[in-house]
Amino acid sequence: MRWRWCAGSVVHLLRCVLLRVCPRRRGCRLPVWMLKTEAYLKLLLHSLFYNILTDSDVVFDSVFEPLLWSVDYVTRWFGLVFVWMVVVLTTSILLVAYIVLLPNALRTYPTAWLVWHLCYGHWNLVMIVFHYYKAVKTAPGYPPSSGENDVPFVSVCKKCVIPKPARTHHCGICNRCILKMDHHCPWLNNCVGHLNHRYFFSFCVFMTLGCVYCSLNGRIRFLAAYKALERFKHLEMEKPGVPVTGMGPLIGLLPTGQVLTNHTQYFCLCSFTDSAFFVFVFKTDYVTPAPPYSFKEKIMDKSIIYMWVLTSTVAVVLGALTTWHALLISRGETSIERHTNAKEKSRMQKMGQVYKNPFNHGKLHNWKVFLGVEKRSHWVTRVLLPSAHSPLGDGLTWDSFPVKKEPIAV
Ligand SMILES: [Zn+2]
Ligand SMILES: [Zn+2]
Repeated sequence: MRWRWCAGSVVHLLRCVLLRVCPRRRGCRLPVWMLKTEAYLKLLLHSLFYNILTDSDVVFDSVFEPLLWSVDYVTRWFGLVFVWMVVVLTTSILLVAYIVLLPNALRTYPTAWLVWHLCYGHWNLVMIVFHYYKAVKTAPGYPPSSGENDVPFVSVCKKCVIPKPARTHHCGICNRCILKMDHHCPWLNNCVGHLNHRYFFSFCVFMTLGCVYCSLNGRIRFLAAYKALERFKHLEMEKPGVPVTGMGPLIGLLPTGQVLTNHTQYFCLCSFTDSAFFVFVFKTDYVTPAPPYSFKEKIMDKSIIYMWVLTSTVAVVLGALTTWHALLISRGETSIERHTNAKEKSRMQKMGQVYKNPFNHGKLHNWKVFLGVEKRSHWVTRVLLPSAHSPLGDGLTWDSFPVKKEPIAV
């Protein structure tokens, strides 16, 4: 209604402008061609803007549509870049683990401890690679085309112009409707939906576990490497014969032959010029030499620092994201449904009613449905080992509990 009023106002404004341009015709009937033009403009504006279902959301979407197109375009284009980033960064961590950490572990660890690390590390690695590959390569699941009318649907997609089953949403980046859509993941360059939601979540869990594992086990080596690099940096700064400006007033207070570091003694000569103090540091004949720090050791220490910083950061960020998704799965929600359910809950609360999520079957059963666990052994074969089983249900009908059709033998 607002748009109709708005379109009417624009036409009225045009009429006023025309009358102002032709003051002699004020109060007179307009010529036929003008009336035709007015009618045409009115129809044009109505056909462009008038919609009985128009509300603030539609207006907001329309105004920001160009911006969303650009975001979608960039995300689509950068999708492959993000996937390659995941592959390259994971490979770099593996190289550090195999080239720097493993030889040291083989030399120093007791056999039992070494066996545990080799078994856990490789199991975790296999789970990460398998779930990432499946999450990227598995299609999220699409609703059938409009020709197949026997599919129950709850609405029609305005962009694909096909019926949308429950929990289906349109992805602007993939430019098609996705069954039980959770979100579009740029790190997978794929939508997360009915068929690959489990692969996405398992990848997040095992990647977080892998990062926590690297971070915890590399902590002592990281601290040692960090200290060694810091020590080396100090020694570099205090090279013999190099003037240390700015610190003159401080270092100049030191008496000649003062011990500057724990490892090396240097001979200090303070000098004062017009502009500043200069401290010339000379290595004396009688001092003990600095501990050797070869280029190879430096590179290895830097690799360990890189590994620890990257894995710790990913562990925290991805861990938070994984926890959030775990909460949603426990509640039988997707990321999109979380918003719609919250909205519906507050709307019904105002009406004095209680909203119940129709896809929530209780925490344990939600997890069983999500992971495809139908019997007790599946917790091992389908959850703790790589498994390519299909999810329960077809992703089209959600009117009843999927497991009820095929009872779980626990
Ligand atoms: Zn669509
Ligand atoms: Zn998508």
